[in-house]
Amino acid sequence: MQSDSTDLDPLDLLRLGGRHALAIVDRDGRLSAVPAVADGDRWRRAGPGDGTAEALLQLLAGTPGRSVRGRFEVVSWTSGPTPETERPVTVDQTNESIIVGDRAVVKWATHLEPGPHPAPGRLAALTAAGFSAMPTPWGVVTWRPYDGAETLVATVTGYLPGAVDGWTWAVELVKDAARSGDHATAIGVCARLGTVVADLHASLAATVTTSTRADAKRWRDGAFATLAAARELAAPGNAQLLADHDEHITAVLDRLSTLVDIPILNAHGDLHVGQVLRADDLLFVTDFDGNPVLPPTERVLPVPAAVDLAGILQSLSHVAIVAAERSELAPERLAPVDADARGALLDAYLHGLSETGHAGLHIEHALTAFRLQQVLREIVYAGRHLPRWMYVPDAALPAFLQETSR
Ligand code: ADP
Ligand code: MG
Repeated sequence: MQSDSTDLDPLDLLRLGGRHALAIVDRDGRLSAVPAVADGDRWRRAGPGDGTAEALLQLLAGTPGRSVRGRFEVVSWTSGPTPETERPVTVDQTNESIIVGDRAVVKWATHLEPGPHPAPGRLAALTAAGFSAMPTPWGVVTWRPYDGAETLVATVTGYLPGAVDGWTWAVELVKDAARSGDHATAIGVCARLGTVVADLHASLAATVTTSTRADAKRWRDGAFATLAAARELAAPGNAQLLADHDEHITAVLDRLSTLVDIPILNAHGDLHVGQVLRADDLLFVTDFDGNPVLPPTERVLPVPAAVDLAGILQSLSHVAIVAAERSELAPERLAPVDADARGALLDAYLHGLSETGHAGLHIEHALTAFRLQQVLREIVYAGRHLPRWMYVPDAALPAFLQETSR
């Protein structure tokens, strides 16, 4: 977040007008896209207030559509007017986002991901389809490295004032429902979420193709690789469960190999409640960067719609586990809320798909397998990166097994 005043030694520059530029720099072998401002004959790192995010907005407004500038490509969906006055986003973030005039958010890819990058294509498809349950895309800037695939260096979206992060609103929602015993609000919000996910998939229907044997094998092998890692990293309780239920678990995951000749699409790819902002009681899907645990070439590939549905449904179960951990509520009080919330989401999703003529996108046994893979991924994630998260899969795996072993 802190901008330093050190001089930059850019590998490449996109001039934004005035003294401003987007600079690609090499930071100890990792590439980064940073805002830059000219200082005499040098470039220095720009911070909020230097006007570099405003300059990018002006460039977008002045060049609607697609334009190529050297190794950069600019795609703009806005024609102005351009807001002014920059301030930083202060919440926990991976990259660096700047809010301009309370109207737009400019996200500089300070953690540049190797390409190919899924977001530009997803945002273009969703914009063309008129999907509105996301922060309005204003534009994207991509860059083609000298020795790799094109990737995303800056994203500009409409700012949602007062937007609440997914984990925050969802945990509060299920806690309120468990405390009061009245699940109507939670059911209503989760049903709306189900409709939003159905709209998302219907809007991406132009990208639908059919899976091959190689696709199914890759999903199956990927899930078994996750299982192998989870066996290594699970806490004793889950390690025992993985051993005791090995036959059921391998049978569920093995079904992924049957997903041949099924519809697949350029889905969100990493959908969970943490990707859903809530503002004024409306829900907005964010982060079309794909699944960070996959290699870049796999991140852009089409997947069954069940990948997204499994991700969002399983995350609701994890919300209930977090709510129990962070409150006086016993897990038994939260389990019925979890069941109602997931039921409402699934019903609304299926209803939304059939309303829009896309019921064929839903494949039930794929849903169960991808949900299990998600639980296993939480074990791996906690084991490798965040041990204090392990209580979530510690509770989620037994619940999943109980629900699906019958
Ligand atoms: P990063 O990749 O750096 O983590 P995110 O896209 O996750 O960036 O955004 C970081 C945070 O900024 C989000 O958790 C959210 O709180 C806020 N945010 C992102 N986009 C918007 C938006 N369009 N309107 C309001 N807040 C936003
Ligand atoms: Mg983030």
